[in-house]
Amino acid sequence: MPDSPSMGAYIESYHRSLDDPEGFWREAAGAIEWDVEPSQILDETSAPLYRWFPDGRLNTCVNAVDRHVAAGHGSRAAIIYDSPVTGTCERWTYDDLLEATSRFAGVLRNLGVNAGDRVVIYMPMIPQTVVAMLACARIGAVHSVVFGGFAPAELSARIDDAHPRIIVTASCGIEPTRIVEYKPLVDAAIEMSSHKPERVVVLQRPQATAGMGERDVDWDTAYASAPSVDAVSVAATDPLYILYTSGTTGKPKGIVRDNGGHAVAMAWSFRNVYGMNPGDVWWSASDVGWVVGHSYIVYAPLISGATTVLYEGKPVGTPDAGAFWRVIADHGVRAVFTAPTAIRAVKKEDPQAELLAGYDTSSLHSFFFAGERLDPDTYEWVTGHLGVPVIDNWWQTETGWPIASNLRGIEPMPIKPGSPTVPVPGYDLHILDLHHADVATGEQGDIAIKLPLPPGTLPTLWGDDDRYIGSYLTDHPGYYTSGDGGFVDEDGYVYVMGRTDDVINVAGHRLTTGSMEAVVARSCGARCAVSPPGATSPCRAPLRIPRSWTPCAKF
Ligand code: AMP
Repeated sequence: MPDSPSMGAYIESYHRSLDDPEGFWREAAGAIEWDVEPSQILDETSAPLYRWFPDGRLNTCVNAVDRHVAAGHGSRAAIIYDSPVTGTCERWTYDDLLEATSRFAGVLRNLGVNAGDRVVIYMPMIPQTVVAMLACARIGAVHSVVFGGFAPAELSARIDDAHPRIIVTASCGIEPTRIVEYKPLVDAAIEMSSHKPERVVVLQRPQATAGMGERDVDWDTAYASAPSVDAVSVAATDPLYILYTSGTTGKPKGIVRDNGGHAVAMAWSFRNVYGMNPGDVWWSASDVGWVVGHSYIVYAPLISGATTVLYEGKPVGTPDAGAFWRVIADHGVRAVFTAPTAIRAVKKEDPQAELLAGYDTSSLHSFFFAGERLDPDTYEWVTGHLGVPVIDNWWQTETGWPIASNLRGIEPMPIKPGSPTVPVPGYDLHILDLHHADVATGEQGDIAIKLPLPPGTLPTLWGDDDRYIGSYLTDHPGYYTSGDGGFVDEDGYVYVMGRTDDVINVAGHRLTTGSMEAVVARSCGARCAVSPPGATSPCRAPLRIPRSWTPCAKF
């Protein structure tokens, strides 16, 4: 556990979250509008399965939309839809979102969708996707968004696990060089599935017209005659959504997200991890099909009353080579969140960031990265060219929000390239050896979180408590096993070295991708992603690889 006197506010918050989790999360729950305030904060009676806010009741859509309108912010932008691939830019206010969401909830109701029913959403990056998600939340239905790039086999596996009553789709998604017709993919997936959804709602886009069959319902026609539907009250522990992990082999794991813990975690993290406030413009350059899209394109910014930029296309290359900078300048973006790979692509096209000169990016306060290790080159390139804090954060589909980050809303900390900084309050992070004991500072092991996990993390896998326990809670009893290996340094900074199932066992030595990167960097004299602060070449990161293991001369 980090314990440096310079981290006063963080240390206080972190300790409090672990010493008095119920007090900590009761206070955080004050940011949410409840129909019935929770009197109990944590239910441990079925441990290792935990439930947060078990007797609370709320509606997530009300928290993301209605309450901002009721508070007089209806004319504030909720969504800025920026779509160079269609030549469109639209501003959706909270008023617009309330109208569309209430009406689409009426469409779902008319099709017989009730609280607890599942709805698969297979859609591109357009505002109607957000509308469909929130409309499900509004009537207590459980959405399962499937990334629009997935092929019929993957979609079919998810249909057979979630058993949706209906599917919501669009006629097409648009990639920079081609139009991808979604409807034939949906039809093929249903053909392959044992479970047959009753209806498919299709949004016809101008770029492609989907052929319609008996099962299909036209979005616009259904919307035109749908009533506006009020939100229903659901239990905090009722599922809001299922999101399948990205694995394409075997039966996908359906990560369940509840309503109450999720809403609290979204509001808390947007403010305290990302330092964002109501009305700020935030751009998460990802896709709604991924967890980053669920948490930080849709739910966290909207629950917090901020403005979220929804970007359709890849903000790299044609038709908009300076897209990252243009979007920041056009919409006054305060913070960007993306994956390092996106910026590597930008850097490849424009190594000196010459395109940046054409845009006023002075609104930008921070740049966040997640999804993979933030390599020092990318870190330094963004820091050098944009001159704002560049923040790595580490988390997973399972947790739904950061496990380790630099807490911008609590206490900004010195950045060490290669580390996502410190454990986030709520996560009792340990580095364990094979015998479930804590390793020494600087030693590598399994990154595990002592149970209970904080609100907003997965309570279980869809319909499969045993698989949840077997997959995550068994390797180290009493802990959630992240599946990532790493270490914590003397300042309490966490270093994530890669998936433990990517570890190569050679003659009894366990080699992770991160430790191999360290050896390569050490050998060639470069700085590596695990260099301690101020390190110069050659890398002096703690090495867990026997010195007798020498890399090939080519390095
Ligand atoms: P996913 O659940 O598909 O979002 O993938 C989560 C996994 O991506 C984590 O378990 C890590 O292996 C990796 N990951 C995500 N963010 C980071 C990060 N900031 N640094 C290192 N690895 C990361």
